[in-house]
Amino acid sequence: MEYKGNPVSHGIAIGEVYRYAPFVPEIEEKTILPEAKEIAVEQYLNLREKAKAELTAIQEKLKTNDPDKAKIFAAHVEILFDTAMNGEIQDYISYDNMSPEWAIKKTYDKYIRLLSKSKDAQIRERTADLKDLRIRLHRIWLGVPKKNLSILEKPVVVAAHDLLPSDTATLDRTKVLAIITEIGGSTSHSAIIARSYEIPAILGIPDIMNQLKDGETVIVDAVEGSLFTQPDEAQQNLYAEKRKDHLAYSAELKKYLHVQPVTKDGTRIEVHLNIGSVTPEELAGSQYTDGVGLFRTEFMYMLSAGLPSEDEQFKQYRKAALEFGERPLILRTLDIGGDKQLESMELPREDNPFLGLRALRLCFERLSVFKTQLRAAFRAGCYGNVWIMLPMVGSMDDIRTAKQIIGEVKEELEKEGVQYNPDVKIGIMIEIPAIALIADMAAKEVDFASLGTNDLCQYLTAVDRLNPHVSQYYQTYHPSMFRLIGQTAAAFHAAGKPIGVCGEMGGDPLTAAVLIGLGIRKLSMGIASVAGIKKLITGLTIPKAEELAEKVVTLSTADEVEAYVKRELESLV
Ligand code: PEP
Ligand code: MG
Repeated sequence: MEYKGNPVSHGIAIGEVYRYAPFVPEIEEKTILPEAKEIAVEQYLNLREKAKAELTAIQEKLKTNDPDKAKIFAAHVEILFDTAMNGEIQDYISYDNMSPEWAIKKTYDKYIRLLSKSKDAQIRERTADLKDLRIRLHRIWLGVPKKNLSILEKPVVVAAHDLLPSDTATLDRTKVLAIITEIGGSTSHSAIIARSYEIPAILGIPDIMNQLKDGETVIVDAVEGSLFTQPDEAQQNLYAEKRKDHLAYSAELKKYLHVQPVTKDGTRIEVHLNIGSVTPEELAGSQYTDGVGLFRTEFMYMLSAGLPSEDEQFKQYRKAALEFGERPLILRTLDIGGDKQLESMELPREDNPFLGLRALRLCFERLSVFKTQLRAAFRAGCYGNVWIMLPMVGSMDDIRTAKQIIGEVKEELEKEGVQYNPDVKIGIMIEIPAIALIADMAAKEVDFASLGTNDLCQYLTAVDRLNPHVSQYYQTYHPSMFRLIGQTAAAFHAAGKPIGVCGEMGGDPLTAAVLIGLGIRKLSMGIASVAGIKKLITGLTIPKAEELAEKVVTLSTADEVEAYVKRELESLV
């Protein structure tokens, strides 16, 4: 059987399915008979031991490769044996005839509520640990097998309805052969992470979870966007060959990683890196690039058990700053909300999260979170060439409010005598058409800009970037995109301020060529796109790029634009 989806990270894999669905326990109020109390307490104590055994096993696995993550699980064991909480659980069972699972829920929920009200951020952060532990206890109680993408027993094809950024950021990349999901488009975070980890991925195969069984063998052709179930031997052999060919092609392309990105007629184009963490794997891209055009700092928040402290953030930013030295390191401030949620932050449920309390808007509401991040960034500025970039800017008010807060942060650092770099550049992401259309005014008040084409396309075409039912309307090749980008770039150039592109269009050779034609000289992308973009640049001339740019804005549909650039660039991509 063949299923079609969107091949967002190219590659081919054959392997066993691992169905992944985050466990959501449904625990109802339940009492037990008085004579069952003793057994129930015993059951609770057994359950606690089983949870401890799981946590210890995870710690053991993480101890050498990821000691920080291991510490989180050590802390969970301590909570599990907390005297006050254990006393309450056992009292609920013994004196109030509550079932163990209900006593656990009552107690954990009470402490989660209490801690979340604390004025001390460090204490508030512990609520995420309690939630995690409560889910673990209930999962074991209900006899549901453990599922976790960060610790996989063997190589598998991960199938899920959707993957949260926290799932993808922690997944064990050595064991994930491919990813398939029911929702998510080419600019969703699952797609971006899959590409940067070079894991083949097909997203947006509706209802696929109901069609697959754990352990069955499938073929993932994430070049054509086909998933094959129940493949026979001949088909498996055919795809094993195709896989080999694809790997050989990727290896050949990788030779371009080392070349200087200079066009055939001598213009140097800057190629920057998009990163989501400061792991050695991510920072390895440093050797091939001109800087970091986008550090998605929210991933650090997602991986942290609570909100990361100023010092924790500072250390990570400093690590990246030292790695890139004089080359710019653009730290994007917290871009949470939309499809990215934080365990450690209670966010309101919204009907239209992409149009809601997101990114900068949320930072304006959670000033202490925003200021903590800014302080860490300014301090890291002493160790390299740090630039701060604000996401989801929609108006001049946003720019002015943010700059006011930034001014306060600098004053506070100054007063406290903390070492920081006052000359860190402040820039904006251009992701909302409202700010793109007044880019001339914005350019006067900021040091630089970067076009976030993933969201720009979402807001310009009015299409949820994750919804597979409308993905045909999400058109990055839409002529309007190029018109708007062209105008915005011209406004920044006229003001003498740098502007680049850090959305996925910057890493797609076909669109990148047009962007160069529109005057963009700075492209930022995930490491997986660097070689292909350098190949394109070295084969391109500026007049050719300008010819493409002039033409696409006169075409009427995305299909026409795509067909035209494909034809014109056939030999370069
Ligand atoms: C973008 O919107 O283009 C962008 C780079 O930000 P993100 O994909 O993280 O929303
Ligand atoms: Mg964005």
